[in-house]
Amino acid sequence: MPKGSIAAPPEAPLDCPLCPRLFDFRTANAKAHPDWFNAPVASFGDMSARFLIVGLAPGLQGANRTGRPFTGDYAGDLLYSTLDKFGFSTGKFQARPDDGLKLKDVIISNAVKCVPPENKPTGAEIVTCRQFLISRMEQLPNVKVMLALGRIAHDSTVRALGGKPTAHVFGHARRHVLQGPNARRAARQLSLQPVQYEHGPADRGDVPHRVQERPERSRRLRADRLPVSFRVTAPRIAGIAQW
Ligand code: SF4
Repeated sequence: MPKGSIAAPPEAPLDCPLCPRLFDFRTANAKAHPDWFNAPVASFGDMSARFLIVGLAPGLQGANRTGRPFTGDYAGDLLYSTLDKFGFSTGKFQARPDDGLKLKDVIISNAVKCVPPENKPTGAEIVTCRQFLISRMEQLPNVKVMLALGRIAHDSTVRALGGKPTAHVFGHARRHVLQGPNARRAARQLSLQPVQYEHGPADRGDVPHRVQERPERSRRLRADRLPVSFRVTAPRIAGIAQW
């Protein structure tokens, strides 16, 4: 389990100082744009959701400005219109945190909670912030499908689940299903189901459909290829994978 993950709250404190570079960037942005949010952006959505979307990090003029994931920039326009299309939301998305939009059966989080310069967090920042992603996952008892948007989100999600990106290689629209005798045995012992996570491009507009209705496209992992770390860390997954 990553250092610090046990005691981490599910969302980072607004004054989180753990990444000095990002702290300084937030501080500079707060001076330049005092009317912007300029703080770690909390997850948004349905706490009883079965579907978790993990993005990279807040955009400078998107979530960092508005304080809600994927709100205020083009990526959010695509994502929220797609969620609406497949019935995952009520209300009208208007790119403002007070637009009244509500998500149904889906929650959106980020691998890194603070806006990074040039949209590029360092490896150390990704690792440091993962404790909040893990803690968030642990408090989403119904999640069974995860969609990671981009390589960094994908790899950090895999690691948050105790897996290894080398065993579950990133690829557009690639789906990974963790199952097999060992995973099923662990599931029985721990009263959990095998964990699924998926990566797909947000700009295809059919991601939820792919998640829900196209299992034949899945790439099932052989039991002997399941990462050892999954089996070792399965108890931690129990809290996020029961349904
Ligand atoms: S990226 Fe995460 S760990 Fe780093 S300062 Fe922001 S909230 Fe804290």
